[in-house]
Amino acid sequence: MIAVRDPSRDDARQRLLARLAELDARVDDIEAEQRQPLDDDFAEQAVAREDDEALDGVERAALAEIAQIRQALARIDAGDYGLCAACGQPIAPARLAAQPAATRCIACADAPAGRGGAARAA
Ligand SMILES: [Zn+2]
Repeated sequence: MIAVRDPSRDDARQRLLARLAELDARVDDIEAEQRQPLDDDFAEQAVAREDDEALDGVERAALAEIAQIRQALARIDAGDYGLCAACGQPIAPARLAAQPAATRCIACADAPAGRGGAARAA
């Protein structure tokens, strides 16, 4: 496939880069927060630990999204952005608008076989 300059792809790249910067900043914030020493007060410590657990979840979600966005950016560079990584069909523009980092069409994303669950179940 020939990588054509496509304004909608440039637009997607801008959106992905903006989102990536936002997520990078969030992960930095979380890590700075987690480096803070625990308070001497026991009740404060308990609250801080709960916060840390919540932050871990947020950080994991952010890191997963960062990985997805990097993949989507690589696909833009390769010229196959917007095509389903599983079936090769174009991903619906509405899906890409809602989820610029989507690498699979809605049918493949919904297919249980496409989730890689089998490898993890072993
Ligand atoms: Zn597909």
